Amino acid sequence: MTAAAKPRPDRAYLLRYRDGDMEPCAIVYAPTARDARRQFHAIDGAEYMRTDAERKPEFDAGVPSALDLMAKHGWWFTCRHCGDPATFRESEPSPVVLDDRAWPPTVAHAACHAKAEVSP
Ligand SMILES: [Zn+2]
Repeated sequence: MTAAAKPRPDRAYLLRYRDGDMEPCAIVYAPTARDARRQFHAIDGAEYMRTDAERKPEFDAGVPSALDLMAKHGWWFTCRHCGDPATFRESEPSPVVLDDRAWPPTVAHAACHAKAEVSP
């Protein structure tokens, strides 16, 4: 079998821990849900039997930016400064994305970030 004969792993799956609080953990690209779970197991050290893979066609084109995940998909990330969840809320300024290259991205509340800038 040649590499070209294999299905391209371009289907996006959202992987979550089944017994946790069911918050999104990672977006994985794989041909099938089973492959996605195996891949997540290898990446994260998650137990294969305790993860769920949910098909996410809206992520097939690529992982959205951290800002889009928070603004359009309701995700949150841990604030780098205070450790609380940071996401979009109408009552607060938008969170600041400090580093989007690694996973999870480094994110901070606007207020926490402003405070850290003044007194690092
Ligand atoms: Zn914060």
